[in-house]
Amino acid sequence: MAQALLGRTQQVPILDEKVADVDTRIIRMGEPYKDEALIREAGEIIRAGGLVAFPTETVYGLGGDALNPASSRKIYEAKGRPSDNPLIVHIADMEALAAIVKDVPETAKKLAAAFWPGPLTMILEKSDLVPRETTGGLDTVAVRMPSDAVALAFIRAAGGYVAAPSANRSGRPSPTCASYVAQDLDGRVEMILDGGDATLGLESTIVDLTVEPPAILRPGFITVEMLRQKLGRVEEDGTLFRADSGQAPKAPGMKYRHYAPEGELVIVRGPAEAVTAYIGGKLAEGRKNRKKTGVIATDETVGMYQADVPRSVGKRADAAATAKGLYRILREFDDEGVEWIYSESFDGGGVSQAVMNRLLKAAGHKVIEINEGGTEI
Ligand code: AMP
Ligand code: MG
Repeated sequence: MAQALLGRTQQVPILDEKVADVDTRIIRMGEPYKDEALIREAGEIIRAGGLVAFPTETVYGLGGDALNPASSRKIYEAKGRPSDNPLIVHIADMEALAAIVKDVPETAKKLAAAFWPGPLTMILEKSDLVPRETTGGLDTVAVRMPSDAVALAFIRAAGGYVAAPSANRSGRPSPTCASYVAQDLDGRVEMILDGGDATLGLESTIVDLTVEPPAILRPGFITVEMLRQKLGRVEEDGTLFRADSGQAPKAPGMKYRHYAPEGELVIVRGPAEAVTAYIGGKLAEGRKNRKKTGVIATDETVGMYQADVPRSVGKRADAAATAKGLYRILREFDDEGVEWIYSESFDGGGVSQAVMNRLLKAAGHKVIEINEGGTEI
């Protein structure tokens, strides 16, 4: 049914048809009085053990009651996600935090004061209120207070504790708009709250506060520098940005195959002019081999490439724009059946670390380093 409502969604194969039997209602947010009643309805679905996809400022979430083990099991089933990959519990106020963790350490208080509501997830020791189904069997729980107004109202209406991973089917990019949610989850959730495009477009920063010093498990908009300003020492997991770190990843989710486009994605890193020339050569090779080609470039360079599907993530200096556009572009390559994809590299500090982290995962860490002369090193 959702397909009919949304003109531009494309049919994607659903792996386990037997769970895709729900009549999904897609509800466009934006009319205050109507919204209130609809959000109340969405909250009731959660309280009754159902699933609702909802907008947040990072990406769309697939929500269920975090305190109900059956709801968490449903989330895993709808998403096709391994059940030892823990969910993030979304809350709307600090009282809710105190209820679901053993204690609220000073570090958490400082970070909450500085960055909540916002795109930061904290890992803390869980209280008995949180079932292990929600935490993937762990004694720790991931908690976030999103800033999106629809998300906050929905969490309150749902009883205050909404477990939500990103609202994509496992192995697809996180959805940044409601039609992408419908592509992946039509028939698997009772309702999709459509709040328009996610303003940030990349998942939250995850910081583990159960270790000393605190450690970043996933980079995002709240950067390591911002966290260090509040906490002093903060470690970065060596597996986050480098292809060759040789360390085992620390967040449970990291051991799973992440989203990779159907085409072959390669990142090219080196001096700017050498990179455009190198990618240009590869695209020509692709044309000769009758491959459908795609490119991830910036406003400054996208016009230089002769690709079948050239895409710009925005101005190179605007890391936030890059973050916002990346997942949409990756989905478009799949929709267009692109076979060879070349991406420029985004190696600035701050938010571009988060972008690079996701891009490296999507590329399966395939990076070609070239020198000034365009030779691979
Ligand atoms: P997603 O919900 O798709 O944004 O993914 C949530 C991420 O949070 C996964 O990569 C999880 O591994 C991570 N996560 C959730 N809970 C914990 C936890 N208790 N300890 C470490 N990582 C966690
Ligand atoms: Mg996810």
